[in-house]
Amino acid sequence: MAKWLRQRFAKPLFPGSNPGGASNFITMLKKAILTEKTALTYDVIELTFKTEEGFTYKAGQFITIKINDKVPPCFRAYSIASKPASDNTFKLCIKVVPEGRGSNWLNNLDVDNEIEFLGPSGNFIFSSTPEQEVLFIATGTGVAPFLAMIEDEIEKGNKQKMHLLFGVRHNKDIFYNEEFTKIAAENENFRFDLTLSQPEDENWKGHTGRVTNFLEQHIEHKEKTHVYICGLKDMIDSVTNLLKSKGFTDEQIHFEKYD
Ligand SMILES: Cc1cc2nc3c(=O)[nH]c(=O)nc-3n(C[C@H](O)[C@H](O)[C@H](O)COP(=O)(O)OP(=O)(O)OC[C@H]3O[C@@H](n4cnc5c(N)ncnc54)[C@H](O)[C@@H]3O)c2cc1C
Repeated sequence: MAKWLRQRFAKPLFPGSNPGGASNFITMLKKAILTEKTALTYDVIELTFKTEEGFTYKAGQFITIKINDKVPPCFRAYSIASKPASDNTFKLCIKVVPEGRGSNWLNNLDVDNEIEFLGPSGNFIFSSTPEQEVLFIATGTGVAPFLAMIEDEIEKGNKQKMHLLFGVRHNKDIFYNEEFTKIAAENENFRFDLTLSQPEDENWKGHTGRVTNFLEQHIEHKEKTHVYICGLKDMIDSVTNLLKSKGFTDEQIHFEKYD
């Protein structure tokens, strides 16, 4: 571990705070340092953090960050967008919501700034068996846990058929296209479809329409397919209703709602 990082984590969390009682919650907070900040689009950022030794999580889980802009602070959940690594780093992929307290505070962090967080938490993890096929459906930053899951499964040598359907609104909203396109080119068991609900570029040759349009046209019910959906509630509800009308059962559908 770098010297500067050792020194940062050597400091007590809250010097002088009483042990026990309410501080139990406080001592559950972990610390991480922002090491990299990348703009993926005009309103989506990717943040890379280095955290404490021994931090582990399962692909698909999220952390809950203390938004420390004012008293009292608030907490916001973010899916980890990177596959579990052994170097205590993790990435988040965050949409900066207009006027949003948490996402704007995170967007204003600089490299070397520190955050506190709880977790990892959540049961939205890859849990299908080799004979099953997997369909991932995401809109916007709902794709974050799927990048972690897909990279993790590919690294483990998983040969199951996996298909990611990713929807964003405009051309300018596209991100992680290169990453998923590369995984698909290198792994014949992984298929990637990107669809734009409102393409503005007349040269756009890819899919158009919402993820539900794509599903209506291209996806038939298969008993062995398990579906993972992530994003905002309205999308998840309409995708779930559509899948159920095609014969998918509750047991086949897994989701993570962001709002
Ligand atoms: C388990 C879980 C995991 C999450 N993971 C992520 C993640 O990886 N990346 C991420 O960007 N957000 C994620 N979120 C949403 C995140 O927790 C915050 O709700 C979001 O950042 C908005 O917080 P805010 O304080 O900036 O805005 P607020 O002032 O709380 O505004 C909330 C508004 O933002 C909308 N909103 C919330 N999330 C999004 C989004 N992702 N895209 C567009 N609009 C949104 C809500 O519908 C609501 O209208 C996750 C939420 C949960 C519950």
